[in-house]
Amino acid sequence: MSEEMQVQFIVDKTTCMGADECGSVCATICPPDIIVYEEENGKKFPVVTEIELCMKDHGCQNNCPVKAITILPPQEGGRDY
Ligand code: SF4
Repeated sequence: MSEEMQVQFIVDKTTCMGADECGSVCATICPPDIIVYEEENGKKFPVVTEIELCMKDHGCQNNCPVKAITILPPQEGGRDY
């Protein structure tokens, strides 16, 4: 097993309003463009396709209008909002 900690992309599906409602903020803000949406019960929830390409800029977490995303490990200096 790798020594490096795997990045985790965690979505609170209760809080996420769905991509149609927010205007796909998280996918739009993602520099390597690795967030896609999967529909579930009429809402489009974000899913990361290639987590190894994550740049760890925490842009999705910090720009989600309802703070539905948590990226682990946390951003250095704490969560930026
Ligand atoms: S996690 Fe936030 S930014 Fe992403 S689809 Fe849900 S509400 Fe929109």
